[in-house]
Amino acid sequence: MNIHEYQAKQLLAQYGVTIQQGGVAATADEARTIAEKLFAGGSKNAVVKSQIHAGGRGKGMFKSGFKGGVKLSASASEIGAFAQSMLGQVLVTKQTGPDGKLVSRVLVEAAPKILKEFYLAVLLDRAISRPVMMVSAEGGMDIEEVAAKTPEKIMREVIDPALGMMPYQARKLAVALGLRGDLIAQAAKLLVGVYKTWWECDATMVEINPLCLIELPDGKQSLIAVDAKIGLDDNALYRHKEIQEMRDLAEESPLEIEASKFNLNYIKLDGSIACLVNGAGLAMATMDIIQHFGGSPANFLDVGGGASKDQVCAAFKIIFSDPSVKAIFVNIFGGIMDCNVIATGIVAAVKETGLKLPLVVRLEGNNVVAGKQTLVESGLTIISGDSMADAAQKVVKSVAR
Ligand code: GDP
Ligand code: MG
Repeated sequence: MNIHEYQAKQLLAQYGVTIQQGGVAATADEARTIAEKLFAGGSKNAVVKSQIHAGGRGKGMFKSGFKGGVKLSASASEIGAFAQSMLGQVLVTKQTGPDGKLVSRVLVEAAPKILKEFYLAVLLDRAISRPVMMVSAEGGMDIEEVAAKTPEKIMREVIDPALGMMPYQARKLAVALGLRGDLIAQAAKLLVGVYKTWWECDATMVEINPLCLIELPDGKQSLIAVDAKIGLDDNALYRHKEIQEMRDLAEESPLEIEASKFNLNYIKLDGSIACLVNGAGLAMATMDIIQHFGGSPANFLDVGGGASKDQVCAAFKIIFSDPSVKAIFVNIFGGIMDCNVIATGIVAAVKETGLKLPLVVRLEGNNVVAGKQTLVESGLTIISGDSMADAAQKVVKSVAR
């Protein structure tokens, strides 16, 4: 699950990471009021930021033609006007894809004078099975370019999960970022706070880009998290009530939401061949074999080991409602799964929805004879595959026609 920047900052603040003052607004009036308070409190500038589950907002463009999902101003009424131009509009960034994302909330914050922008992230390095903190002095909006062209400018510190991030590791990274004097201790505290957020919240990744060196009104320098992105492990959400409430369904694919209601593991993809499979491993192999024979999968869908007829029926309806689907490939290996349950679910769903698309079914295993008989007796046009490869070739061919 992903959360918004303002929510990520709330979590980070709980672990002692310094963030800007501000608030969230759903209307231009609210945005202006927050800005007025910030200015009354002594801020010289404020920033208004579109809240969507995607980065690249600064360089993003609204479909309306309005430029920039992050805007700075020294006037509260201009902050209100910017918010007006963002709210209810669709923002397209490098990360949203051409469809963009609807902005329903903006974050208004005090905008300090930024002296330097750094990059900071924590994630799990699967190759070494350890958390890693990465930093770079080349932070800001073009970190992808830094990673591609000058990867040596990104420094990594591997963390022992049993010990957590040690203060010396944080100081080492702070020095590597070029920080000196008091700022080293301040950065170390912030980095440890970011790591703790990652660990305690069961995050898959925490990214602060930019982490900024700023100038305070009294001329002193300080560090704050200006942007924040947190991804969370869905499997651990059950132990974080507070984080569960941060879920924003409007940001998720409607088909994926529907699938989660039926406990189906569904992920929408870009291709044209829908797959309905039991078991994540077989589902992956099914996508591979479709690709191998020249097709492209429209989704990943694992109905699980013990799916009911209703779940299979729901899965089918989800598949049908994706307009890019041109054919369906059902690939079931009945271990725990009873092939006849799948077959009955398929027949019910096809009859209910009046499916016209080519449907290729490969059934194998537990109660397969009864399952095949159910399909034959249904009178539906179903192409049956003898093996996984045979079925995959048939479904790819049915789309190519
Ligand atoms: P992103 O484009 O979605 O990653 O959004 P960011 O929050 O990272 O903002 C993009 C850029 O806007 C940052 O790299 C900063 O240069 C600038 N920016 C964002 N917030 C502030 C702020 O409070 N003060 C100043 N001076 N610049 C900001
Ligand atoms: Mg950013």
